[in-house]
Amino acid sequence: MKHKAMFQTREGEGTVSCGLCGRRCVIPAGARGFCQVRHNIDGVLYSESWGRLIAASVDPVEKKPFYHVCPGSQSFSVATGGCNFRCGFCQNWRISQHRDGDGLLDVAEVSPAQTVEDALVAGCESISYTYTEPTIFFEWALETMTLARQRGLGNLWVSNGAMTAEARAELAPFLDAINIDLKAFRPKTYRDVCDGELEWVKESIADFAARGVWVELTTLLVPGMNDSDDELRTMAKWIAETLGPKAVWHLSRFHGDYKMADADATPLATMDRAAKIATDEGIAYVYAGNTPTRDAVTRCPGCGEAVIVRSGFALSANHLTGGACHSCSRGIEGVWKFGATV
Ligand code: SF4
Repeated sequence: MKHKAMFQTREGEGTVSCGLCGRRCVIPAGARGFCQVRHNIDGVLYSESWGRLIAASVDPVEKKPFYHVCPGSQSFSVATGGCNFRCGFCQNWRISQHRDGDGLLDVAEVSPAQTVEDALVAGCESISYTYTEPTIFFEWALETMTLARQRGLGNLWVSNGAMTAEARAELAPFLDAINIDLKAFRPKTYRDVCDGELEWVKESIADFAARGVWVELTTLLVPGMNDSDDELRTMAKWIAETLGPKAVWHLSRFHGDYKMADADATPLATMDRAAKIATDEGIAYVYAGNTPTRDAVTRCPGCGEAVIVRSGFALSANHLTGGACHSCSRGIEGVWKFGATV
């Protein structure tokens, strides 16, 4: 079945433009957009990845990662093939970098209604649109999110944040939380390594936060690419200014993959240095993740008490009391119940 794409504009002579992501592809008849999953057939743009799920798993919400969203809950996690970026360090490139003939779209279509049922039967509290870039399966995700909301499920995106303002306006009313990858803070790195633009991402972070969507940020620290003191400090300052006391920053450890398969893993000393810079710049919630030997602890910014403790992806302690610190009663920012963002 063909599914018409949203955000398309006819440009004449069978060409259409796509306004779903910042790339704004102009696509001649018969061709596909940069993401390879939006296809201009006879002057009409179609979403070819609609419901073609290549992953549907139950994950702890901590794995996404979301640390300030219903801790200890399970999230039904779905993806289709394809992406609108080409990050050289992609850790999911086998499913994100779709090409003709790789079979990623040759899977049976799963309906939004079936997905919501599957999530409920699995005992999940939310659906996560994740693993690849959910923007490129926007139409299916939006329909699923609408039904999920009606059935009391939360909707979580893990995204590169490169969607347009038009797309964000459609998405935000159904979105409980989004974890956006802030991959670097130099436009040149975004262009050279990801084939993307930093400005698209900064705009999305600020816009979702302004619309009341809970935002967490993740940066994969790639040695030599984005881990200098200067870059980390500039990025941390901007995050603190943009998200204020709600800022949550996950610093994630890189291991060699895709076009950077031979690169070194991030040293633990770099993780510690980055976390210190982030804290010094006023980010309240900083997590140096992908380090299985260390717990990830949420401390109350008021009194310093450990409120939530995670070991790997498992919750080992949760002392939140009605969304507040058990010791000093200060509210801890987050989505502690779907439909009630603090
Ligand atoms: S989603 Fe982005 S990459 Fe894909 S066709 Fe639209 S503008 Fe191009």
